[in-house]
Amino acid sequence: MKHFPIFLALDGRRVVLSGGGPAALAKLRLLLKTEARLTVIAPDPDPQIREWAAEGRLRLVERGTEPGDALCAALFYAANDDDAEDARVAALARRDGATVNMVDNLDGSDFITPAIVDRDPVTVAIGTEGAAPVLARAIKRDLEERLPPVLGPLARIGKAFRQMAEALPMGRARRDFWAEYYATAGPRAHAAGGEAAVRATLDTLLAGHLQARAAPGHVAFVGAGPGDPDLLTMKARKALDAADVVVFDRLVTPQILELARREAEMIDVGKEGFGRHTPQAKINALIVDRAARGHQVVRLKSGDPTVFGRLDEEIEAVTAAGLGWSIVPGITAASASVAAIGQSLTRRGRNGSVRILTGHDMKGFADHDWAALARPGEVAAIYMGKRAARYIQGRLMMHGADPMTPVTVVENASRPDERTLATTLSRLEPSLGDAGFDGPALVLLGLAPRTGVIRNSYGTPTEHPALQEAL
Ligand code: SAH
Repeated sequence: MKHFPIFLALDGRRVVLSGGGPAALAKLRLLLKTEARLTVIAPDPDPQIREWAAEGRLRLVERGTEPGDALCAALFYAANDDDAEDARVAALARRDGATVNMVDNLDGSDFITPAIVDRDPVTVAIGTEGAAPVLARAIKRDLEERLPPVLGPLARIGKAFRQMAEALPMGRARRDFWAEYYATAGPRAHAAGGEAAVRATLDTLLAGHLQARAAPGHVAFVGAGPGDPDLLTMKARKALDAADVVVFDRLVTPQILELARREAEMIDVGKEGFGRHTPQAKINALIVDRAARGHQVVRLKSGDPTVFGRLDEEIEAVTAAGLGWSIVPGITAASASVAAIGQSLTRRGRNGSVRILTGHDMKGFADHDWAALARPGEVAAIYMGKRAARYIQGRLMMHGADPMTPVTVVENASRPDERTLATTLSRLEPSLGDAGFDGPALVLLGLAPRTGVIRNSYGTPTEHPALQEAL
């Protein structure tokens, strides 16, 4: 960064510009927006400059620039449309101690004037160190479209309201208030009723935020479903809409996180390295801390929060802190996985019960009633079963399971990258290893995909050949 951007206080300060032609006019149009005391020195100034002088907006000295003209000036502009003259007056001004800009001469300038997006009091300055004025103009256009002219009045009215907003505690509460004002409430009010409506809205908005703070904190344990945002419940959507804080796991997809209220604090407790290993006690402490501060906390868990989600530990922590909580159920991975293969979890005459198992528990590979699971017609949905597949396979075979028992593994159920592996118990490994699944996967014991074409929740058809053909 060769040029350091700053915003210079110019009110009441002396700014001198040498020149009276097109370059001078362009610079003056910008400078006239400031509150500087402007002096223009030009032997033959443009009529427009004379007019500005007559209106008292600047002081005009009709002669060539001389030593001493830039004394006490904060800034000096050499804008004569003449390189030699600009060099001469720039040297004079420097001798007077002024900071100098030479129009269209980057190397000869002490400072440069950026491209400006003016939404006074909001000002955006864009500089490219002279490398690409075209780019600066393109960015300016882009920003002008993005920053509606209403931003200026909004900021001015907001500024006058700052003291009132101090009724909200400093930090997040106040930031949320302002974020809502600038993003939605302010522009909406302005469109409906102009500046008067904006002022009224600030009062209502503040009352609302103060009241919301008085409401006690709450933790909603919300099921995010298997990944497809369309598989969220309406209740989950509403909870996300109202959330102050969203604490989410690794398996919750970005498309779902997008749906959270824009001002919500998003906390990832599932990041590899940190989150995956975020100790449960830390997560408990985090949700209790936010709810105790009066926030509406959404603890977002993949699938259904009541299935392998360590829900009870979190509820106990929240209860112990004397805080309120509720559960919003979601679609569990088992439901999405059987849907993907067109099968039922239970079927008359085949299985009147279904087991939900984990391949892994705190101690390693989980132990189960293998003898019962090995019986014909048993159906089990095995969560976290990928790495335990060989172990499960060995246990079941040892307990006399039919080696031809169908087993289907569904990876990324309900997501665009959903894949299935249809195999049998005896071939589960190495088939699963060969498939190289690296997303979340569910092992369905005792189920094969229904033969034919099945559409997933995105409507993408998948062809499932008869199991025998697949083998
Ligand atoms: N509460 C979640 C389960 C969390 S345990 C639920 O109800 O679905 C995490 C395990 O869930 C993963 O190891 C995987 O076995 C399974 N899982 C989660 N999302 C899945 C998906 N989209 N497709 C397949 N399995 C998934």
